[in-house]
Amino acid sequence: MTPTVPPFAELAAPAHWRTVDFISDLHLQASEPATVAACLHYLQATPADAIFLLGDIFEVWVGDDALQDPGSFEAQVCAQLQAAAQRCALYFMHGNRDFLAGNAFLQHCGITGLPDPTVLTFAGQRYLLSHGDLLCIDDTDYQRFRVQARSSAWQQQFLSQPLAVRRAQARGIRQESEARKQSGAIYADVDHASAIAWLQAAGAHTLIHGHTHRPADHTLAPGLQRVVLSDWDAAALPPRLETLRLSAAGLERVALAPMYQPS
Ligand code: MN
Repeated sequence: MTPTVPPFAELAAPAHWRTVDFISDLHLQASEPATVAACLHYLQATPADAIFLLGDIFEVWVGDDALQDPGSFEAQVCAQLQAAAQRCALYFMHGNRDFLAGNAFLQHCGITGLPDPTVLTFAGQRYLLSHGDLLCIDDTDYQRFRVQARSSAWQQQFLSQPLAVRRAQARGIRQESEARKQSGAIYADVDHASAIAWLQAAGAHTLIHGHTHRPADHTLAPGLQRVVLSDWDAAALPPRLETLRLSAAGLERVALAPMYQPS
């Protein structure tokens, strides 16, 4: 089977960028305050000229109208993203949890949306950026859901429901997925043949993605690599808090301080 290669967007880093950060899979939610605090501290402290948020920043996003409720969790996090966007360039790519984050969210925060996948050219090198879910082709149930849930008909139908109904539905889906995790379900990983086909079509040497929560550097073929971002969990022992940092020296994983002591 010939791997499917989607069209990819292009982004050229402005010449003044010295440092670029990539993060994904923070799964921010009100019930995980330590991870939220670590994210807020990171946004204030990073020396990066640009931060690429490569999906699943939020555990769930049920619609941009959640921002209109000033006390909502979404509004609180977005106030911090808005502040960070004053200091550095922010880019956002959808994950499978926050795929409903729309233009109102982007405009509210001052973030630029990125199609999945996008090629970033930095210091003369081409990096292919993706959330990663599209490459997990063995997860056929999910791929079917993905096609449906990215259609405007499905989204219009979902978003037409009251916010409280959408939140309840999202909780139900989350409980199902937690139960699946507890039962020891094996999750599909990125398909290497597809990753190689994407890189070759894009003329890129390095694929940077999240989604799988399996941080590692893989050599796919001579000169082609796949760099997997870490998920975040400040309450884990040891905490999982990491950014992938790109500079003239190349890519480097940077561990972040938890910066939060539960009282
Ligand atoms: Mn994901």
